[in-house]
Amino acid sequence: MKKLIILGSTGSIGTQALDIARANPDKYTVIALAAGSNIDLLEKQAREFGVKAVALFDEAAAADLKIRLADTDIVVLSGAYGVCELAAYDCDIVLNAIVGIAGLRPTLAAIDAGHTIALANKETLVTGGEIVNRKLKEKGVTLLPVDSEHSAIFQSLQGVPKDSLKKILLTASGGPFFGKTRDELQNVTVKEALNHPNWSMGAKITIDSASLMNKGLEVIEAVHLFHVPASKIEVLVHRQSILHSAVELSDGAVIAQLGTPDMKLPIQYALTYPERDMCFEQLDLLKVGTLTFECPDYDTFRLLPLCIEAINRGGLYPTAINGANEESVKLFLEGKIKFLQIAELNEKAMNLCEDKKDFTVEDIFAADQAARRVVREAI
Ligand code: NAD
Ligand code: MG
Repeated sequence: MKKLIILGSTGSIGTQALDIARANPDKYTVIALAAGSNIDLLEKQAREFGVKAVALFDEAAAADLKIRLADTDIVVLSGAYGVCELAAYDCDIVLNAIVGIAGLRPTLAAIDAGHTIALANKETLVTGGEIVNRKLKEKGVTLLPVDSEHSAIFQSLQGVPKDSLKKILLTASGGPFFGKTRDELQNVTVKEALNHPNWSMGAKITIDSASLMNKGLEVIEAVHLFHVPASKIEVLVHRQSILHSAVELSDGAVIAQLGTPDMKLPIQYALTYPERDMCFEQLDLLKVGTLTFECPDYDTFRLLPLCIEAINRGGLYPTAINGANEESVKLFLEGKIKFLQIAELNEKAMNLCEDKKDFTVEDIFAADQAARRVVREAI
C-alpha cells in the first residue's frame, strides 16, 4: 500500500491521479488532498477516499468546507501555509499537480518532510530549479517527473550511463495554431486557443501550448531535471503526440518512449517507479500510421526562444517570464488582451527583471510579483 498526497486534486492531473487510485484500491491509500477553491469537488473527493486532511488555498472556501465536513474527522487546513502543512503529512509520495508558481512552496515543504515527489507542476522547477535541486540533494529525496515529455526522457534514460547523454529531443504537438502566421494569429479567440488537437488539460497549460510557452517552460524544466544546458535540448514539432520525447546517446542511438496522448501513463509511472503497472490505453502503431517531425516556427511563436533566452541568462529571468505569463494568460482568458500580447508582455517583463545572485525563495516571489505588475501596468 502506497500512501498518497495529491496537491491540486480537483484539476486535470489531480482527477486523473485519483482515477488511478480508484482503479487500484489495493495499492493506494489517499491520505490528503489540496486544491485552490473548488469546494464541491474537494468535499466529494475527501468523502470518497476517506482522507485524513484536506487543504484549500482559498481561506473563505476552506471555512465553508470545515462546516460541510463537520460530521467527519477530516482536518481542514487553509491558505498557502495550510497547503504546505498538508504536503508534510506522513506519506510515501506527494503528487504536486497545482498550477503555477503556487506549487513551489508546497514542493519545498514536501522535500523538507523527506517525501518522494511526483512533479506535474513544472513552474516549481522553472522558478525554483536551483533551490529545489540543492534541497533534494541535501535531503536525499527523489523527484520523479510527471510531465509527459520529461517522463518519456526519464524512461528513455533508464540504464543509460550519465555521460552517454548527448542530446534531448523534446517533442511538441505544435498546438491548435501550428502553421499559422503572425497575421493569422492577430484575432484568434479564447475558444480557438483552448481547442488543443491532442491533449485535454487545464486552461492555463492549454493556452501555453497554443503559444508554445509550454514548450519553453519545458525546456527550462528539462535543464533542471536532467542537468543539461538548453543548447543540448532540441525541440521537434511532432503533430501526432505519440512519441513523447527521446534522448540521443553518444553512439548515435536514439531512445524514445511512445504511447497514446494520455497523462495516466506518466502519472502512474511516477507513482509506481521503478515498477510498471496496468495499461489504460494500448498504443496501436498501425492505426497511427505516420509519425512526422518538423522544426518549430521560432519567429511566430516567440515565447519558445524567449524562454530559452531566460534559462541561458539564468538567475531570476525564468521566474520573471513565468510570472508575467501567468498574469498575461489570465488576462487573455478574461478577454482583456489579445493572444499576441501574451508574448509582448512576457518579453517586456523579462527584460525589466532585476536579477540577483544567490537568490532566495523570497526573491523568487518578489521577482514573480514584479513581473506580474509590469504586465498589469502595461495594459
Ligand atoms: P488545472 O487547472 O486543471 O488544475 C490545477 C489544480 O491546482 C486544481 O486542483 C486547483 O484547484 C489547484 N490550485 C490552483 N491554485 C492553487 C493554490 N494556490 N494552492 C493549491 N491548489 C491550487 O491544471 P492541470 O492541467 O491539472 O495542470 C497542473 C500542473 O500540471 C500544471 O503545472 C501543468 O503545467 C502541469 N501539467 C499538466 C498536464 C495536463 O495534462 N493537464 C500535463 C503536463 C503538465
Ligand atoms: Mg508536457
